[in-house]
Amino acid sequence: MKVIFLDIDGVLNYEGCPVMINGIYFVDDERIKLLKSIIDRTGARIVLSSTWRYGKFLKDDSPREYRLFKRLKKRLEEHEIFITSYTPVFDYEGRAYRGDEISAWLEGWKGNAVESFVILDDNNDIEPYSDHLIQTSWQTGLTSEDVEKAVMALE
Ligand SMILES: [Mg+2]
Repeated sequence: MKVIFLDIDGVLNYEGCPVMINGIYFVDDERIKLLKSIIDRTGARIVLSSTWRYGKFLKDDSPREYRLFKRLKKRLEEHEIFITSYTPVFDYEGRAYRGDEISAWLEGWKGNAVESFVILDDNNDIEPYSDHLIQTSWQTGLTSEDVEKAVMALE
């Protein structure tokens, strides 16, 4: 299967994004549609690597994080985007090196073999996978240019 490791902040939202919940930037429909176009063109599955996934695991300890996660999941599902899996969390403070979490996911994944993957992220702490990084920008979030790069890399 083809995989998109998905960050949220700086990918589906951006600095000054008008869509907010509880005082934080939420996700922008135009960026979500761009993500959906990658999925439609490649059949790639989503593995969430963003800190937004913490809420899924912190269900009982942090109701607020959990609620935010549920809102995100619901919004994506409204666009027919479904999360297949989540990278493991090494540090809930978000200080873990994201590449290590992706590495652990790739090693532990027991589902269909991963034939290709891209990492959509505005940060670059993803060694040793920098070849797979489509680096977005916090200023713009995901762009149609990024979409073309992702489709090419997944083919
Ligand atoms: Mg980010």
